[in-house]
Amino acid sequence: MPAGAAELGEQLQTVVAEMASWMREYGDVTPHAAQDVDPSELAAATAELRSRLRDNYPFHHPRYAGQMLKPPHPAAVIGYVTAMLVNPNNHALDGGPATAAMEKDVVAQLAAMFGFAGTPETPGHLGHLTSSGTIANLEALFVGREIHPGKAIAHSADAHYTHARMAHLLGIEAIAVPTASDGTMDVDALDALLASGRVGTVVATTGTTGLGAVDPVHEIVPVARRHGVRVHVDAAYGGFFRLIADDQPDGVAAAPYLAIADCDSVVVDPHKHGLQPYGCGAVIFRDPGVAQHYLHDSPYTYFTSDELHLGEISLECSRAGAAAAGLWLTLRLLPLTPDGLGAVLRPGRRATLAWARLIEESDELRLYQPPQLDILTYLPARARLSEVDAASAAAMAAGMARPPAESLHLATYTVDGPALAARGHRLDVDVPAGRILRSVLMKPEHEAAVPGLHRQLLDLLRPTNGPRSPDTGENPPLAHHT
Ligand SMILES: *Cc1c(COP(=O)(O)O)cnc(C)c1O
Repeated sequence: MPAGAAELGEQLQTVVAEMASWMREYGDVTPHAAQDVDPSELAAATAELRSRLRDNYPFHHPRYAGQMLKPPHPAAVIGYVTAMLVNPNNHALDGGPATAAMEKDVVAQLAAMFGFAGTPETPGHLGHLTSSGTIANLEALFVGREIHPGKAIAHSADAHYTHARMAHLLGIEAIAVPTASDGTMDVDALDALLASGRVGTVVATTGTTGLGAVDPVHEIVPVARRHGVRVHVDAAYGGFFRLIADDQPDGVAAAPYLAIADCDSVVVDPHKHGLQPYGCGAVIFRDPGVAQHYLHDSPYTYFTSDELHLGEISLECSRAGAAAAGLWLTLRLLPLTPDGLGAVLRPGRRATLAWARLIEESDELRLYQPPQLDILTYLPARARLSEVDAASAAAMAAGMARPPAESLHLATYTVDGPALAARGHRLDVDVPAGRILRSVLMKPEHEAAVPGLHRQLLDLLRPTNGPRSPDTGENPPLAHHT
């Protein structure tokens, strides 16, 4: 964690004391005996909890270079816990005005980051936090269905599986558009599909969950507009890269990110790259007028204000006000600017590029494809896909099996023959599909760790550390074609 555990502990103690002091302003409350627990039983139960939580991977450590997981920033923890002691519900203003106001504030900051300024008729934006990217995407697809009833959604073949699933839930068809050789949506194929008139909403993904591939939003928007189709951007993973979308050596490509401003809706997960604990997604619409699709009446909420409440523009009901407080406090300290949160993303991007270079220069590994964000995919140099699969799985298992202080935690990603061939990898595709290795380098601490990660991986790939193929012997390095 960026701040020491002692520092965070001290802050939390202050938080608990201060919130208790606010509560006492209302007069003392004698706790009811029904909720009393024996202090020694509490201590024993929490000790058991801590012991059970040891069954985890070290998400906080740079040698955890697997999935998109990391602990929240201390500011997010302090913000979340402070508000959680009150436990406001951001479903309605009556559930806690302060965190509802914070939610509107952080959503406005997210909208500004994406360049959402509304339409000439209805300036501004409409949006709210959600408990996840899944729900946020569901809402965007729901609004798309209300605007284009009976029409399908189109997403790239590499889009998150949630889109097909949510389309099923909404009773609409989901059509997968093929990807180009870099894992991004094939815009010509999209154009041909949209010409059929079947599609009402295109989902562009700026940062696929598997490869971190960024769909060319700037090319998708004009095609969609020509066919009168909505564009929704799933930036659940990659949305915050907007802050470093500057075409710089340690930034990411600008054009797709700048074009998000012209899309109809966007989803971003503060619980992925926004340093928040789980339970924090966001959906934002460019046109505030879409609120009409959410409207409902409830006899038991909204009695203190005539304003549009968060609960009136959200499909979810109860939501943690604490999530808004955690994000609000974090953004007060690390704002949505290139020098704020952007400076937290850049080292991970540099780490990814540095490891990609080491991999390209090595004889033992191949880069699956150049990384567009901070997700790296690579494979052991082997002659056959079955051997790549076995070596990848063995390296992952061997890394995790080492003692904690020497462990290396990687993830795998399944590829097939056509996907390998599209990227110029010529190997014998003797099995229909196989696993390669994948690392999400989303912690700034990864930058300093890269040389060590690479050395450790090479060590794990040595034949003594994994099953050796009986018939290729030396596993000769292959020519590199990407
Ligand atoms: C993570 C992710 C989702 C799903 O979001 P959750 O917060 O896990 O529900 C959707 N799309 C993309 C691109 C993602 O990376």
